[in-house]
Amino acid sequence: MAGREQALISIIMPIYNEGGHIINTIGTVEQILDKHSIRHEFVLVDDGSKDDSWKKLFSMAKENTAVTAVRLSRNFGKEAALFAGLEHASGDAVIVMDADLQDPPELIPEFVQLWKSEGCDVVEGVKSSRGREGLLYKLCAKSFYQILLKATGIDLRNASDYKLLDRKVVEALLLMPEKITFFRGMSAWVGFERRQVPFEVQKRVMGTSKWSFRRLARLAVYAITSYTSAPLQLITAFGGIMFLFSVVLGIQTLVRYLTGNAMEGFTTVILLLLFIGSMLMISLGIIGLYLTKIYHELKGRPRYLVSKKIKDGEEQC
Ligand code: UDP
Ligand code: MG
Repeated sequence: MAGREQALISIIMPIYNEGGHIINTIGTVEQILDKHSIRHEFVLVDDGSKDDSWKKLFSMAKENTAVTAVRLSRNFGKEAALFAGLEHASGDAVIVMDADLQDPPELIPEFVQLWKSEGCDVVEGVKSSRGREGLLYKLCAKSFYQILLKATGIDLRNASDYKLLDRKVVEALLLMPEKITFFRGMSAWVGFERRQVPFEVQKRVMGTSKWSFRRLARLAVYAITSYTSAPLQLITAFGGIMFLFSVVLGIQTLVRYLTGNAMEGFTTVILLLLFIGSMLMISLGIIGLYLTKIYHELKGRPRYLVSKKIKDGEEQC
């Protein structure tokens, strides 16, 4: 593609407590970029780390003008950090990757080559194996993607956040106004010309995964409520079925009562009450999830706040 030959590629990394290895990690990635003469900049977003990550990013950004370091005012989560990276990147294309080398940087030249030669807008890394994950985690991930696929038709089963996005895709993503973001889903939703590159998830270089089960569950709920209102319709459908059932049961009960054959005992009543009670609560809970979502979006708070930024070796705030 014309114009893409000398393009600037922004490498975006969200960073949370990765101080132990971040300098080496950036070094490794930079070596690969230099070897393939890829013009690049790094946009490193410190997501409110509690270790010395910011100190490391600060010194890197001071020494190397190709590094832009942004520090968020607190830990906003990977999704917000990714969007902070997208907003601060100036490349003709961006590559989003984790800071722990689980996304193999050896693939970057291939991503860039595909973008340059085939003129596609998105090159996405798809996981050919999911790396080392616990059984429960695997099971939860599988059911989450299955629900999302059924409800929305978006297949994210082997999707990862490791992607190259053309500038126009970045602009499209930044136009989306939602405050609670789900990068993987949003970047699938925008469409555009896409290519896939399979990769094996590597072992984390250092430390452990920053995602607790609670955070993952929260992300899953956000993702599902963002993409589909199917659970709400499910409540209506279920209510309809229950109504039909209650008409039949009601008539039967009345007939028995009038003919003097009424059933005795509270067991049935108690069972029915318990069942209906829990169904009502679950339904209210589902409505609550959507309400929460609307509430958060309506507040319209920014996705993240920047407390410090170093670009071109200069502190900007
Ligand atoms: N991360 C982040 N904010 C967070 C949690 C994680 O910016 O609150 C970053 C983290 O530093 C890493 C990436 O997101 O670069 C992926 O995190 P992690 O490796 O812990 O997740 P996993 O690979 O287990 O999905
Ligand atoms: Mg990781």
